[in-house]
Amino acid sequence: MKSTCPICEKGTLQPKKVTYEVYGIKLGLFPAKVCSVCKEEWFNEETSRRIEAIEKKKGLFGLSKKTKISYSGNSLVIRIPEALVSFMGIKKEDEVLIHPEGKSKIAVELA
Ligand SMILES: [Zn+2]
Repeated sequence: MKSTCPICEKGTLQPKKVTYEVYGIKLGLFPAKVCSVCKEEWFNEETSRRIEAIEKKKGLFGLSKKTKISYSGNSLVIRIPEALVSFMGIKKEDEVLIHPEGKSKIAVELA
């Protein structure tokens, strides 16, 4: 059965196996419907639940959090949420490389 993509309204949705990735970590191949034009991917409810379970098992669930920029002396400080600290294994005094990725994203690379 063919269905039209609800996003671009041009392509048709085709069943495919796609690699699902979160924070640059591949979770595996999952069945999805992929738009032939805009490449948008849809997972059914069962697959979404499976992906969420894997994210939780690997400690990848809920690592994206809001944090505020504050002051310390003359510098601006960004607090790293606890879940991210333990996931990344970050310790005090660790050296990192910080650089912009465009105008709306800052990358922090662990050495
Ligand atoms: Zn589309």
